[in-house]
Amino acid sequence: MKTSDYMKTTDEYVLHTYNRFPCVLEKGEGVRLYDTDGKEYLDFAAGIAVFALGYNNPKYNEAVKDQVDKLIHTSNLFYNVPMSTAAKKLAEASGMSKVFFTNSGTEAIEGAIKAARKYAYLKDGGTDHEIIAMKHSFHGRSLGALSVTGNDHYQEPFKPLIGGIKFADFNDLESVKACVTDKTCAIIMETVQGEGGIYPAEPAFLEGVRKLCDEKDILLILDEIQCGMGRTGHMFAWQEYGVKPDIMTNAKALGCGVPVGAFVLNEKAASKSLVPGDHGTTYGGNPLATRAVDTVFDIFAEDHIIEHVQEITPYLEKRLDELVSKYDFLSTRRGKGFMQGLVVEGRPVGEIINKALSNGLIIISAGSNVLRLVPPLVIEKSDIDEMIEKLEASF
Ligand SMILES: *Cc1c(COP(=O)(O)O)cnc(C)c1O
Repeated sequence: MKTSDYMKTTDEYVLHTYNRFPCVLEKGEGVRLYDTDGKEYLDFAAGIAVFALGYNNPKYNEAVKDQVDKLIHTSNLFYNVPMSTAAKKLAEASGMSKVFFTNSGTEAIEGAIKAARKYAYLKDGGTDHEIIAMKHSFHGRSLGALSVTGNDHYQEPFKPLIGGIKFADFNDLESVKACVTDKTCAIIMETVQGEGGIYPAEPAFLEGVRKLCDEKDILLILDEIQCGMGRTGHMFAWQEYGVKPDIMTNAKALGCGVPVGAFVLNEKAASKSLVPGDHGTTYGGNPLATRAVDTVFDIFAEDHIIEHVQEITPYLEKRLDELVSKYDFLSTRRGKGFMQGLVVEGRPVGEIINKALSNGLIIISAGSNVLRLVPPLVIEKSDIDEMIEKLEASF
């Protein structure tokens, strides 16, 4: 089949919920992807902040292949080996206490919401507990996750969503306080807003929310699905702030391509929580996915991935800041580590992205006018130089 045939067949049989780029990706090597016509792309999207370790990573591939040959699925009626080691590594990396593995980020959010409601239910015996979420947030597309996603356009056709959700302004502590009632059981936010346009939480805001949660016994849920797993130069973005969540959600780079997510509870959240009968999943925590997670943590340690992000970030920021000074239509840069956004004014972001693709550079957007750079965490300075060159050619 030809490239155009794959695209035609996809468009004929796959529900049209995405406007795909006109290329069929076939294989990857390091920070490069290749399509079915053999064209090479420098990848600064990493499958939306997923493939952190570079494509065709030998250690990762070997471990996943080994697990395929051993055992792929058991169900949660049984123990399995990688679930135990992966859970321990995730708990130790976060200093939190209990892990529940899911199959996606969205499901991690669902679990976090249920855990928060269960905590409040066991505390006061009541129901109808409220959750405060942020405007311009993104937490996923299922009805629960969509209910805490602060985007009218995404929500509108699917109402009514779950009740008891209030939206506050991100980085505005007073607006959060104004939403608090006796019924508030949780505040949920991304530590660095991703889809909404790459907005890091301001330290005073996150500290203020933490303090508010402590005073009122409200659980703080930090969504680290996009910003976690080393992307900001810390294993979890909140570790830079010195503020700890009660519940954390993970996915994307957690399994580096094998579909897996997790919600993680601290001791307090775990003390009044979901028990047998409350929550479950057929696939979640299966040996294939958790072997991937376990291996990802090993490679992070062995290859000093986080140190690498910290070392290269100033160079990435410097090169991006140079673009902002050079081009009038770039108004600012926002972000942390390898999660960066360039704000575009007065011209369509999509045009730049399409041009970049034809120039062999994969970048994506966030919000309505942000060029989003979420490369594999293994990029080198030379990759950044090449990215800048290709991006400038696309302006
Ligand atoms: C991608 C994302 C999700 C949803 O994860 P899926 O794996 O697509 O279900 C939730 N929260 C944030 C911050 C995300 O970036």
